[in-house]
Amino acid sequence: MEVGFIGLGIMGKPMTRNLIKAGHQVAVFDIVPELVAELSASGAVRGKSAADVASRSEVTITMVPDGPEVEAAVLGPGGALEGAKAGSIIVDMSSISPIVAQKVGAACTAKGVEFLDAPVSGGEPKAIDGTLAIMVGGKQEVFDTVMPLFQAMGSSATLTGPIGAGNVTKLANQMMVAVNIAAMGEALVLATKAGLDPEIVFNAVKGGLAGSAVLNAKAPMVIARNFKPGFRIRLHQKDLRNALAAAESMKVSLPFTSMAQQVLLALMNSGRGDLDHSAIATFIEDMAKTEVRKPKG
Ligand code: NAD
Repeated sequence: MEVGFIGLGIMGKPMTRNLIKAGHQVAVFDIVPELVAELSASGAVRGKSAADVASRSEVTITMVPDGPEVEAAVLGPGGALEGAKAGSIIVDMSSISPIVAQKVGAACTAKGVEFLDAPVSGGEPKAIDGTLAIMVGGKQEVFDTVMPLFQAMGSSATLTGPIGAGNVTKLANQMMVAVNIAAMGEALVLATKAGLDPEIVFNAVKGGLAGSAVLNAKAPMVIARNFKPGFRIRLHQKDLRNALAAAESMKVSLPFTSMAQQVLLALMNSGRGDLDHSAIATFIEDMAKTEVRKPKG
């Protein structure tokens, strides 16, 4: 397929490489020219703008930080919608507010361009391996057309409902992950303060009801004091902010998500915004003046 890819950061770069590896012809654009040059050295076609990339493509993918950047890259001057041909497809794979996804989708539909919102879970390692979990909102037939591209980037792609549903699903994912990490942090701080080895506590509970993919991935990082991202605190704060805005528009109260979002904001203010989100545990540590680590000796 002739594919356009806009946004060549931590996620976009390996996703583009996997599309090229699967035999697709990919034209690329980013506001950082060095990234476009880097990908063109890997076999991508150098685009002059998002509009230029979309004008050459049957499917144009965007992978940028948040809603304002998606609006700029798709709806703004020189944006993808300016160049997209009627009947072509724009797929936004960024994690954004479902309300913005619906706004961008409506603008595309008005120009005869199809739209899917298709955020991902799995982070950089799964973007590199091509094993992302992809959560999609939009029409079945558009989803079916884009499926070969999803297969090149992910190990699963699930149509969860109409446009916006992909991002509602992603927000649900991010809420569960954040509150899970916060509960894990409280539990490991308590166990450590009680004089236990947090690694032994982790091993004792991981096969029971408290066990989770989050616990298995994040507890070892906290115990090893390894907070290299992974998934940054500031991106998780953005996701929970979007979750709270969407919830407010539906009159849904999210007390635990709201508390986790405030903790993430406080961590950003204390200079920890670029640490992995497992560092949510450090907020609890500060309050208890106890670091989760193996006892000495
Ligand atoms: P990133 O900041 O590394 O990359 C974003 C890229 O978009 C940058 O290269 C930036 O220059 C480019 N960009 C910004 N505005 C643009 C515009 N108007 N036109 C063209 N390019 C533009 O971010 P990332 O980690 O790759 O994340 C991208 C999205 O994926 C975010 O929504 C994030 O929440 C989501 N996500 C990230 C991870 C992760 O682990 N990093 C995991 C799952 C989902």
